[in-house]
Amino acid sequence: MRDIEVTEVRIKLAAEDDEKLLGYCSVTLNNAFVIKDLKIIQGDGSPFIAMPSRKITDKCPRCSGKNHLRAKFCNECGSKLDPQRAETDQRGRAKLHFDLVHPIKPDVREYVHRKIVEAYQAELARGQVAAPHRDGEDL
Ligand SMILES: [Zn+2]
Repeated sequence: MRDIEVTEVRIKLAAEDDEKLLGYCSVTLNNAFVIKDLKIIQGDGSPFIAMPSRKITDKCPRCSGKNHLRAKFCNECGSKLDPQRAETDQRGRAKLHFDLVHPIKPDVREYVHRKIVEAYQAELARGQVAAPHRDGEDL
């Protein structure tokens, strides 16, 4: 048996008009530990799983008030802030969030990813079966 066993995945599909966000899910590990608010996001090919995360904030140089990294003005004192001050990753994208929970071992990451994608696809198939039939639609 694995050290980490995914014993339950709960999927909540996103509204169809949301192009990027496919759904939310929670994952239970070893019948003992639940992680909520993972996001299933449309990737290139396979869906991407985003771990629960928090927005990164920094302190205003003038008043030390906390602001989101994209804020143009300080929430506390109104000072002008550089909206491009976030650090960027290797691909040049701004790092605006950090993961609160994430797998460290690559095999665990792949395993959890696979279990979530399987559950998502099963939920999607179930949703399609349950969808009401509309008049004039080919079966
Ligand atoms: Zn300030």
